[in-house]
Amino acid sequence: MSKILQAVRGMNDILPGEAEIWENFEEIVRDWLRGYGYRPIRVPIVEPTPLFRRAIGEVTDIVEKEMYSFEDALNGEKLTLRPEGTAGCVRAAIQHNLVAAGGPQRLCYQGPMFRHERPQKGRYRQFHQIGVEALGFAGPDIDAELIVMGSRLWGQLGLDDVRLELNTLGSAEERAAHRVALIAYLEQRRDELDEDGQRRLHANPLRILDTKNPAMQAMVEAAPKLVDHLGDESHAHFDAVQAMLRDAGIAYRINHRLVRGLDYYNRTVFEWVTDRLGAQGTVCAGGRYDSLVEQLGGKSTPAAGFAVGAERLLALWQDGGEAEYAIVRPAPDVYVVHQGEGAQRLAFRAAEALRDVGLNVLLHCGGGSFKSQMKKADGGGAQLALVIGDDEATALEVGIKPLRGGGAQRRVPFAVLAEAVLDALHDGGNNEERREANKE
Ligand code: ATP
Ligand code: MG
Repeated sequence: MSKILQAVRGMNDILPGEAEIWENFEEIVRDWLRGYGYRPIRVPIVEPTPLFRRAIGEVTDIVEKEMYSFEDALNGEKLTLRPEGTAGCVRAAIQHNLVAAGGPQRLCYQGPMFRHERPQKGRYRQFHQIGVEALGFAGPDIDAELIVMGSRLWGQLGLDDVRLELNTLGSAEERAAHRVALIAYLEQRRDELDEDGQRRLHANPLRILDTKNPAMQAMVEAAPKLVDHLGDESHAHFDAVQAMLRDAGIAYRINHRLVRGLDYYNRTVFEWVTDRLGAQGTVCAGGRYDSLVEQLGGKSTPAAGFAVGAERLLALWQDGGEAEYAIVRPAPDVYVVHQGEGAQRLAFRAAEALRDVGLNVLLHCGGGSFKSQMKKADGGGAQLALVIGDDEATALEVGIKPLRGGGAQRRVPFAVLAEAVLDALHDGGNNEERREANKE
């Protein structure tokens, strides 16, 4: 026998049972997105590599070491599996002229992202994000709305331990001024910098503040703060965001070291974090990125957005949220058992007739005795079995046997099958209620 092939490390199968929880989750998410006027956009999973290099920035974890990049074997084109959704979304908006033609856009997407990281709990090589991008909005109101929106989703999932961390990255000029101070500070402590830190000292010193290296925490904590270099406009914008959050009753902590792992952000940046997921505690991250559209060749367009890590949010939901209410029991309404050639043909038609009226039907496939088929019908949790043998087939009738809560099997003409089954299912519900009532 040949060796069993395995999925790529860090790329997970989502099996039945789990996948149904995902579907429920996605439904909640879709409703939530509609509630804020976000419209779906679907863009390719593969994009030209230069898109990500330009959008995310050369000196970032993603571009330096996490991208799945390859050359198209046929034409040598440089391609990358998307590591995040903003770049593709903005590329599409520019390419199709969405903002110029339609005004400001609230766009959303969900889907797999790919990063070559060390797999661990909450960190995978294929993972899923739910993202929103608000293009063409300059004011602090959209920043606040994005945050309020996140808060509502946590509430809807029954999560009360997701905290907001907030910061501002100011404007490009303000960051430049801060950068000079920061480099001067870090140069004096060059020997305390790790390898990434040394390399980023001049290329991207802001990112050093975001280090996860425990040995560098105290040093970066004491580093010059960007907030001390902000001008009036940036202050006003940040103050307005905070005022709106206070109005909305949303608690937050200002974290001066929150710089985000991607280069495109400016002004407001935020992360939603929890203590329940260990080191991978950020479930959602985002902010404003006013220069990205122009950087990718579009007309200057202010913008802001965020992305939710679906695996992390689902893990929270399944562990202490309200996921238990959402687990689907995929039991069919009706299981169709049959024996004989004529019976099989009638069974096939019967199953379709019931699906026509919206029922979930499992048609027994693969033969076997009536007894073994009934066992399957019962074990699968169906409410009713349809029983069709040669007798029934000849008479053009169908047997209906309640599987839950008793009741005798009866035969009905095929012509009134759907009606009779709907009646029987309805009765079953009443019996259920009656039994409950009798118990009390
Ligand atoms: P981290 O600091 O955890 O690496 P990040 O800053 O790289 O996160 P973003 O690029 O902001 O993450 O992505 C937004 C969200 O997507 C993250 O907050 C997280 O919830 C999720 N995410 C990012 N990378 C992964 C991954 N490899 N596996 C699972 N979820 C991820
Ligand atoms: Mg990362």
